[in-house]
Amino acid sequence: MPLLDLPPWIISLLLALFGLVVGSFGNVLIHRLPQEDPAERNIVTKASHCPGCKAKIKPWHNVPLLGWLWLRGKCANCGWRIPVRYPLVELLTGLLFAASPWFFPFGTLIWFKGLICGFALIVLFFTDFTEMMLPDALQLPLMALGVLLTLPQIFRPEVLMKLWTGPTEILQVLAFHNGLQPAPAYHGFEAAVTWQSSLIGLAVGYGVPALMNLVYKAIRKTDGMGMGDFKMLAWLGAFWGWAPMLGILFLGAGLGAAVGLPLLLLRRSRGQEASGQTMLPFGCFLALATPIVVFFGRALWLGYLGWVG
Ligand SMILES: [Zn+2]
Repeated sequence: MPLLDLPPWIISLLLALFGLVVGSFGNVLIHRLPQEDPAERNIVTKASHCPGCKAKIKPWHNVPLLGWLWLRGKCANCGWRIPVRYPLVELLTGLLFAASPWFFPFGTLIWFKGLICGFALIVLFFTDFTEMMLPDALQLPLMALGVLLTLPQIFRPEVLMKLWTGPTEILQVLAFHNGLQPAPAYHGFEAAVTWQSSLIGLAVGYGVPALMNLVYKAIRKTDGMGMGDFKMLAWLGAFWGWAPMLGILFLGAGLGAAVGLPLLLLRRSRGQEASGQTMLPFGCFLALATPIVVFFGRALWLGYLGWVG
């Protein structure tokens, strides 16, 4: 592939531009997938329109980042304030795409997988943050995809790919490797996520939090987590295997507690009702925990064992 012969920064730049467009589509997903009305959930054929006045958005106003800046964050028709989330999602997706070849070898399966996972986490972070919802339309296909991505390695384990990494350097990598990434740049990969680990991750990802929720329900009489959270853990388990999925669950719960407890104490100190349900968007914390576990999980685990022992 001649594209692979380009210097890494040019690949990065091209990916960034593509990422901005994908990020724009991400905004469509974030806005439309949580809608109640099935017609409003159409993400394919429905033209972009302003949520404030339903006016169609002109193509040049729809250019990622620039459109928002040009309009100074307001609808050209009705003046509806376009949330900062829109350019933010475009920027984050652009950065994700630009950074991807520095973390995973460009064009390999693990690169593709990292990109899909990263984009899904950006979308789910914002649907959970703004609507407290993690849409099935996104999470169910991700469950299947996580398992499917383990298959190429079974049938074509030894396929090598050459990568241009510098004026004199050429790197050989396994094209269909499906392993985790010791952070940050690629100087070797951990063992692949096998189809067994992927399936166990899928089952345990759904099962363990469902059990924890049953216990929580018995004590507090309410749901601690929503069904969407279990499904998120299930597809993360299918993507990265059962052990990293558990790491994501515990780190996510820790981050959630770190943010949730001070909020709870603050409410109490203000004399607000302490038993009031302060639902935190747990999916946001899972999304934040995932890259930490994928890139630093092994180092964190070894550090923990050293600290305990
Ligand atoms: Zn408008």
